[in-house]
Amino acid sequence: MMSSKTQNELEHRLLAVAEDCRQRFLHSVNTLDATLAARLATLPPDEWADDAALSAWPQLQPQLKNLRRVDAALCQWQLGLYGLCSDCEAELTPAQLMDDPCRQRCGSCEQKYQKAQHTSWTL
Ligand SMILES: [Zn+2]
Repeated sequence: MMSSKTQNELEHRLLAVAEDCRQRFLHSVNTLDATLAARLATLPPDEWADDAALSAWPQLQPQLKNLRRVDAALCQWQLGLYGLCSDCEAELTPAQLMDDPCRQRCGSCEQKYQKAQHTSWTL
């Protein structure tokens, strides 16, 4: 069980990473399509990643992926499921979460996941 001090630190870190990721994303969209960026800015940030207009910009896909990780982590936080592996529900350590606040998997599930991704690329 995490101490409340650790939880507080993790929450701050998660919110800071989320804010940073969203600012960068909006900035990137703005350099490509200022009208779209202005429209996104009026929407709740957790709806940005689903905006159909973004599929026109393949170069935004890596950032979109980050944005979805941030959204997922924030959603887990709200549900009280933050810090649990999404595959086996093992508790991630505070050190793992400090390193990457949007981390979704424990060490062994992450390895399996990477392997599965790698296999599907080589097929
Ligand atoms: Zn796991």
